[in-house]
Amino acid sequence: MTVHIPFDNSYATLPGAFYTRLDPTPVSAPNMLAWNDALATELGIAKPDAQVFAGNTVPDGAAPLAQLYAGHQFGTYNPQLGDGRAILLGEVIDTCGVRRDIQLKGSGPTPYSRMGDGRAWLGPVLREYVVSEAMHALGIPTTRALAAVATGDPVYREQGALPGAVLTRVAASHLRVGTFQIFAHRGHIDELRTLTDYATARHWPDPDGPMGLLAAVCAAQAELVAAWMSVGFIHGVMNTDNCTISGETIDYGPCAFMDAYSEGRVFSSIDQMGRYAFGNQPRIAVWNMAQLATALIQLFEDKDKAVEEATAIVHAMPGQLQAAWLRRFGAKIGLTDASAEDQPLIEDLLALMQTQGTDFTNTFAALRTDTARDQFTDRDAFDQWATRWQACNPDTDLMATTNPQIIPRNHRIEAMIEAAVADDMAPFERLMGALSQPYEVTDANLHRPPTAQEIVPATFCG
Ligand code: AMP
Ligand code: MG
Ligand code: MG
Repeated sequence: MTVHIPFDNSYATLPGAFYTRLDPTPVSAPNMLAWNDALATELGIAKPDAQVFAGNTVPDGAAPLAQLYAGHQFGTYNPQLGDGRAILLGEVIDTCGVRRDIQLKGSGPTPYSRMGDGRAWLGPVLREYVVSEAMHALGIPTTRALAAVATGDPVYREQGALPGAVLTRVAASHLRVGTFQIFAHRGHIDELRTLTDYATARHWPDPDGPMGLLAAVCAAQAELVAAWMSVGFIHGVMNTDNCTISGETIDYGPCAFMDAYSEGRVFSSIDQMGRYAFGNQPRIAVWNMAQLATALIQLFEDKDKAVEEATAIVHAMPGQLQAAWLRRFGAKIGLTDASAEDQPLIEDLLALMQTQGTDFTNTFAALRTDTARDQFTDRDAFDQWATRWQACNPDTDLMATTNPQIIPRNHRIEAMIEAAVADDMAPFERLMGALSQPYEVTDANLHRPPTAQEIVPATFCG
C-alpha cells in the first residue's frame, strides 16, 4: 500500500553536523492501536497501514534522521544526547500553514542511543498519547500524538519483557535548549548561528536577532509553566533537552497530574531531590532559560554587552511567570483581572487545600457549583475563605472555562495500560473520549480521585 504524506523538509537541508541520516529499524508485526483522525486531517495525511508508522516502510518524500543535541540533566551538563530512540521522518505544512515535525519514537537505535535499546514499550507510548492529547484539549501548547503502533517485539525493562510500541509524535519542531547548548559548548559558532537563524525563522519570525529569540522563548516558557500549574501538571523531567524553543510541552516520561494538592509533590521515581517538584517548576523554567541565554551569548563579539542584555531578559521572567500565574489562578476563582491584591485570596485557598489534602481538580471544579466545601474536612476554615471570596463577585461563567472537570489521573492511566497490555483498548478509548471534553462531566467515574488502594504514587521514564 502506498501512502502519500505531503512532506516539505527543512531540517534535512541544514548542515550534516545537526543530525545523522538513518532509517527506522523494522519491527516484526505492526498493529495500529491508535490513530488520531482529527490531527491527521490537520496535517493532510490519510490513514496508512501500520507499516508506515511502525517504521517498516519509509514513505516517499521522507528524509529520516536522528537529531543531535545535548542538555543539562538534573542540573549536570551532558555534552552529548540526541535522538536515542527517535527518528524525524520529515515535516509537513498543516492546513493552518504551520510547519510540523513528524517523528517516530521508539523506532530503533541511533548513533545517539548510548546504552539504550532505541525502543519504547507500550505503557509510556500510550501514556504520552493520552496525556499529550489531554493537554491539547485543555488548550496547553504541546507536542501531539498521531499514532501508536504495537511492534510485536518484546522490550526488556526492569519489570521483564514488555510489548514494544512506536509513537508518532507531531511537534512545531523538536528544537530544544539542548540543541543550542551542544554547539555553544563545542565552540561551533557557525553552526550556532545557523541554528539560531533557523529557529527564529521557524518559530519567532519577528524578533530582532538572538536576544529577540531569547525574549520570545522566555515569554512562551513562562506562559507554558503557568498553564501547567493551573491544571496541577507536574512535568517531572524539566531537563534542558526537554525544554522546547517553540514553547510546546515535550517529553511525557515521568509526568503526572496531581490528585491531592501539594506544592512539593513529586511523582518521578528518579527525582530524588525534588528538583522538579510541582512548586519548583517556575524556578526551573528560569534556570533553563539562563542556559539558553548562556548559549546565545556566544554569538556576540561584545560579550559584556550581550551578558547585560541577556541577564535583563532572563531576570524579567519571574515577573512574567508571576503575572501569568495570577491571571490563570485568578480566573480559576472567577476573577477576570486578578491583581496583586487578590493574590492572598488565591494563596490562602491553596494553603487550605494543602493542609487538608483536597483534590486539586475537583476542588476548583466544585467552586462554581458551591459544593467545594464538601471537599474539606475543616469546613469552617473553608467557609471563612468563601465569605471573602464571594465578596469579590466571582464570575461563574469564567470558572466554567478555566477549571477542567477531568484530567488524566495517574491511576486511570495505569489501569488503561494494564488493559492495553492484555489487548483491551476499551479503557484507552473511554479515557480519550472523556478527556477530549475536559470541561464537561461526561463519565463521572473517571472524575473520581483514587481511593487509598488506587493511588499510584510514582511514575517512571520507561
Ligand atoms: P529523556 O530523559 O527521556 O529526555 O531521555 C534522555 C536521553 O536518553 C535522550 O537522548 C533519549 O533519546 C535517550 N533515551 C531514552 N530512552 C532511550 C532508549 N530506550 N534507547 C536509547 N536512547 C534512549
Ligand atoms: Mg527527552
Ligand atoms: Mg523521555
